[in-house]
Amino acid sequence: MCGIVGYVGERSAQEILLAGLKRLEYRGYDSSGMSIILTRTRSPAIRKASGKIIALERLLHKSPLSGTLGIAHTRWATHGAPNHINAHPHFNCKNDLAVVHNGIIENYESLKSQLIKEGHRFRSQTDTEVIAHLIEKFYKSVPLEEAVRRALKLLVGSYAIGVVAKKEPEKLVGAR
Ligand code: GLU
Repeated sequence: MCGIVGYVGERSAQEILLAGLKRLEYRGYDSSGMSIILTRTRSPAIRKASGKIIALERLLHKSPLSGTLGIAHTRWATHGAPNHINAHPHFNCKNDLAVVHNGIIENYESLKSQLIKEGHRFRSQTDTEVIAHLIEKFYKSVPLEEAVRRALKLLVGSYAIGVVAKKEPEKLVGAR
């Protein structure tokens, strides 16, 4: 079992998300990661690491994420090896939208081939990454939560997700 933590507020998100991940550690995981909307650029940045949360913590110590809104994840791999590339969060093509996901997308292969035909570029072997690209596809002239709703309608399987995006940097969308 893996886990998701999200934070929106006035405090520094990095420490709160890390503390949240540590509280989820007992559930088991193979990698962890987080995305925070940076105060400076108002864009999501990602840090992730395979192995224990301490590896992510060390990475964040060297290269911190400064912002007050973010999502974090501990992964238990179901699709794709437990490695750095497959760790969550996952970006869309433009790196301006980040997604964390617990669960399994059973129809991800057909969704992925369709999205590839439409020009989306995938980086991981996960089922999760289709969610980021689907949201990107629908996130044109609608709010983020509506793009998420439209994407979720196409998914078969189980999911809890957290999403953040540059276009609406004060928003964190969650769904299950
Ligand atoms: N199926 C997703 C993956 O393999 C999510 C696994 C999880 O729930 O942590 O990346």
